[in-house]
This record gives sequence, structure tokens and C-alpha cells, in this order.
Amino acid sequence: MTKSEIADRVGKRKDESQQGDSPLWYPFTPMVTWQKESAPVIERGEGSYLIDTEGRRYLDGVSSLWVTLHGHNHPGINRAVTEQLARISHTTVLGLGNLPAGNLAERLVEIAPRGLSRVFFSDNGSTTVEIALKLAYQYRQLSSDPAERKKKGFISFRNAYHGDTLGSVSVGGIELFHGAFRDLVFPVELAEYPYYYRYGGGRSRQAYLEHCLCSLEELLQQVAEKTCALIIEPLVQGAGGMITAEPGFLDGVRTLCHRYRVHLIADEVATGFGRTGRMFACEHEDVEPDFLCLAKGLTGGYLPMAATLTTEEVYERFLGTAEKPGVFYHGHSFTGNPLAAAAALASLDIFETERVLEHLQPKIELLQRALHQEVAPLDIAGEVRQRGLMVGIELVADRQSKKSFLPALKMGHRVTRQARKRGVIIRPLGDVVVLMPHLSFSEQELTTLVRVTAESIAAAMAPEQVDDLK
Ligand code: PMP
Repeated sequence: MTKSEIADRVGKRKDESQQGDSPLWYPFTPMVTWQKESAPVIERGEGSYLIDTEGRRYLDGVSSLWVTLHGHNHPGINRAVTEQLARISHTTVLGLGNLPAGNLAERLVEIAPRGLSRVFFSDNGSTTVEIALKLAYQYRQLSSDPAERKKKGFISFRNAYHGDTLGSVSVGGIELFHGAFRDLVFPVELAEYPYYYRYGGGRSRQAYLEHCLCSLEELLQQVAEKTCALIIEPLVQGAGGMITAEPGFLDGVRTLCHRYRVHLIADEVATGFGRTGRMFACEHEDVEPDFLCLAKGLTGGYLPMAATLTTEEVYERFLGTAEKPGVFYHGHSFTGNPLAAAAALASLDIFETERVLEHLQPKIELLQRALHQEVAPLDIAGEVRQRGLMVGIELVADRQSKKSFLPALKMGHRVTRQARKRGVIIRPLGDVVVLMPHLSFSEQELTTLVRVTAESIAAAMAPEQVDDLK
């Protein structure tokens, strides 16, 4: 099809803008307004910067949707991918092995929380969750104990986000994203994830934490017999609005899961690989999950790849016997892709050679200070939440009452538009402005990110715009 034939097919909108001619359908995007916006088209990346087709440079303040770990165009990862490309770019792991995938599985087991000894690869965050759910479910079905086979259900949390495929949508708790598919998905029990700012209700943080754990225990008392697993985003609910749980919550959840014999699935798709200041968020509370879901940063943010890690106990139940061997019937075309695995191995090397985790703490502290000085005092900054290099700034129309802006005002979006004008790319989640710089941001880049964010919030509430804000 020629370009003009494509343009004819999408003809209705072709005169509206350049992008009206493109058949590209953008995810999570209101296409009707998108057509008029003419967003930059990114051509290259250099370290912390994205460079568009016009040569404009933008500081990448969200790690290209939370994936980039060590910066764009990192020579170490480039080299590893190029070398692997000269050998082979893809070969299946159904019935064959490949060296990068095998080596990566070993490296992941070395760095993962204790007890995780088996690695199942897939392509993205949603599929790593699907796999954990299916494994947790089938594990019980493979039991010889009829009571165990009754454990078929799942617990997840209010505001949870685990991906867009139907299994991961089932355990999602965000009405805006998941509501449309309620009739298609399996039912789950939703527990309360600590969101002190909105639901603390005047209690102390400690009392609120206890309340969340008590209500989870009450739920478990009712449903544990029919529940195989609980899935959680450890420490931070990402897409739900960068909601940071009180310290001790994850550990409390782990204890309850043990007590009620429910598997714990830690979805570290967003929090994994250093984002919270440690390699994995579970490490902060010394939690050993039964399943660990990894994606996004696994390849340093270069290529799509995911991994679901689990324990020897789970793995062994799937073995079956020589007469009746067990099989986990799940596998994607690109599973264990050697190019992606080579990128992931190089990324793990960079953690060591550049001592990435050791250099993080001062950056986290600098970010905290800068946010405290420049963003927190702004009138519409209701709450500034931070865990490691993950930040959410919840914008409110009135700080006292915590009243939200009318959704139609799209305040989060306005702020990110202002930031883009100033050469910084950030993205909103509703009225929560998200910052997620990659792990190798320099101190100066961190300072710029926070300064521009503060300026952009101020610009979005400037007098000429304020009238229609409340
Ligand atoms: N789990 C979590 C915690 C996530 O944040 C995301 C994506 N933001 C996913 C799963 C889904 O990952 P993907 O978009 O790669 O399918």
C-alpha cells in the first residue's frame, strides 16, 4: 500500500495534522485529541536525553515508561547486543537451549531474593504476571489433597496494576483501566493497599498500617481456603498513582500469606532493578516471595523480555513422574530471546562495573531534598511521594480539603505539556505527576528534572489558567 493509499484509508482525519495520516494507534492515548497535539517523534537517545527528528533534546524524566536503567545508547549494552546479533538474533527455547538465556537464568537466581531457584522467561510485564498466576493456580490443581485443589482464587489490591492482558487485568484494581473488561475477567478479592493520604482518615500512620493488615487478615480468614495466591506491587503501586506503602506492610503481608497458606506473588515489574534503592523492593523488608515477576528494566530497558521466578517446591510439583510427566503449557514465540538476554546480562554487568546501587543513595537523598524545597511548597502539590527514584506528585485543587481537580481539566497532563515545552519528558497518571529518572542520572540532571517539574506545575496553575481550574 502506498503512503497516499494509507492516507486515503485514514482519510477522515488526514487534513487535521501530520499524525492524522499515520495508521499508528497509540496506547493509553485519547486518539481524538492526540491528532492535534503533534508530539515529538524521537529519533535518537544519548544518556539521559531523547532527541527528536527536529534535533530538539529532551531530558527523559520517566525512563521511557520506567524501563531505561543506565541511560540510552549505553556502550556496554550496545556492544553486547551487537556481538550477539553477529551470532544469532533469535532461536527458540522450546526444545533447544541458548547460551544468553541460560546464563541470564543463573544470574537472576544469584541476585534474586532467597528461595527463588527457577526462571521462566516471557516478553513483558503482563505476561510475567500471567505466568505467575497460572503457575500458582496449577500448582494447587496438581496436589493430591482435595482441600488444596479448592484453592483456586486470588487476592489483589485496590488500585493495583499488573498489566493489560486479561489475566493481569483480572487482578487489576483501577476502574479506569480495568472497568471495561469486568465481564471478561475472573473475579478476585480486592484488599486495601495503604494509601495514607487518601484513606488514612486522621489515624496515625502506624494505626493505619495496622488497620490495612487487620482487614487483610479478616479477608484471609474468610477466603484463604479458596485462595491460591495474593499478588502485590511491593512498596509502591506504580500505575495506581505511585502510592507508597507504609514500611512494614510488605513484611506483614508476607507473614499473613504464610499463616494462611497463600502464595505471595511479588510483581516487581516496576520496582525491580534498583528503582527503590535496592536491587529488588522485597529486599527492603527481607521478604522472600514464592513468585517474582520481572520485566521493564530487565534488559536495561533495551528489548522486551520478562522473567517469572519461583521456588524449587513449585517447580518440583510440575515435574510429575516418569509415567506421567508434568508440563507447564505456556510459552511465547520469543521466549528466552538471545538478543534480549544478552542485553540483560550486559545490564547486570553494568550494575557491578559502575557500582550502580552504591551510587544510588546520595542521588535518592538529593532528589528528596530538591522535591522538598521546590515542589512540596507549591499550592497544588497535595502530596509528594517518593521511594528511591520513583516519585509521584499528587496535584489537588485545595490542599486543606485535598479536593481533586475536575478530571476534565487534566491537570496532570497540563503539567507534563509545560515540562515538554521546557525540554523535559514526564508523564501523568491522572493528576499524579510521575518522575522516574534512570539510575545513572547525574546530580545535575536530577536537579534540572525537579526544577523544571516545579516550574511546570507553577505554569499550569498560572493566573491566566487558574479561573477554570477549581
Ligand atoms: N506490573 C506492573 C507493576 C507494572 O507497572 C506494569 C507496567 N507498567 C506491568 C505489570 C505490565 O507491564 P507491561 O506493560 O510490560 O506489560
